[in-house]
Amino acid sequence: MPGITEKLLYRVARRWIAGYTLEDAIRVAHNANNRKLSVILNRLGEHTPDEKLIQGYTEEYLKLLNQIQEGKIDGTISVKPSQLGLAASPSLYGTNLLRIIERAEAYDEFVWIDMENSPYTEGTLKTYREILPGHRQLGVCLQANMKRTESDLKDLIPRGGIIRLVKGAYPETGELVYKKRSDVDANYVRLMTMLFEGGGRFAIGTHDGKLIDKARELAKEQKRDFEFQMLKGVRDDIKPTLIEEGYRVSEYIPYGPEWYNYSKRRMRERKRNILLLLRSITG
Ligand SMILES: Cc1cc2nc3c(=O)[nH]c(=O)nc-3n(C[C@H](O)[C@H](O)[C@H](O)COP(=O)(O)OP(=O)(O)OC[C@H]3O[C@@H](n4cnc5c(N)ncnc54)[C@H](O)[C@@H]3O)c2cc1C
Repeated sequence: MPGITEKLLYRVARRWIAGYTLEDAIRVAHNANNRKLSVILNRLGEHTPDEKLIQGYTEEYLKLLNQIQEGKIDGTISVKPSQLGLAASPSLYGTNLLRIIERAEAYDEFVWIDMENSPYTEGTLKTYREILPGHRQLGVCLQANMKRTESDLKDLIPRGGIIRLVKGAYPETGELVYKKRSDVDANYVRLMTMLFEGGGRFAIGTHDGKLIDKARELAKEQKRDFEFQMLKGVRDDIKPTLIEEGYRVSEYIPYGPEWYNYSKRRMRERKRNILLLLRSITG
């Protein structure tokens, strides 16, 4: 990307990311903790079969865990499977994930696994099912746009799986997904109800006011160990309200030089974000 375009895009993207470096992530994490938000730190980057890069990402997550511990940060990390080797080989991914989990366990910290696009769903869940019995401080994201998610949830709840439920960020084609927004939302409600009825610990990952209200309603009926999770820079209006109401709210904070694709996904989610971009270009 040419320098000037990158600079302009970065001005807008800063709303959603901490910056380029691990130090930026730690600084923004402290800032969020000061506003009573827990944090989930993510090093951007995905879909790489390059073993050198994969080792680099793995080492960086180990460093992040050290810094979370040393900085007494209230928070954890979220990793992407294809960043830790799933795009190269499942066994490489499993080995790297285990290194990260073992470090997290030594500090009594938690690890979340993001869910990527559909070619990675089965591999991600297979490894999760294998590792979970020996490592309970481990959660995985499931997407309401995927038709298979209901059966994945039915399988994972009795195993003690810890789930972050989201709508799904990746454009998918074919029969695997619900395409209409209303179908995705209805499935989200169905899955969220299953979590409130039968789930152990879980997270409601959405900015959608209607779904947040539904979760509040369900929380009144069933006392559950759950938290709201939202992205940095989105719905900053509602985060303090939920905290005041007594809910735990975590902010997902990504960082790293690979901010461009992540920001494109955030742009797609809301037309007003494109306007933000245009305004930054026109000054
Ligand atoms: C903590 C967390 C972790 C996630 N992890 C994953 C993952 O691992 N895999 C995955 O596929 N997806 C993940 N996502 C993204 C998710 O799938 C959705 O793409 C994203 O959350 C937008 O959907 P929504 O539920 O907020 O609803 P939407 O219907 O997209 O939005 C509802 C309302 O929220 C507000 N809003 C939403 N997005 C924005 C935005 N970018 N800027 C400003 N306002 C906005 C608007 O008011 C909008 O009307 C994650 C989301 C969160 C919050």
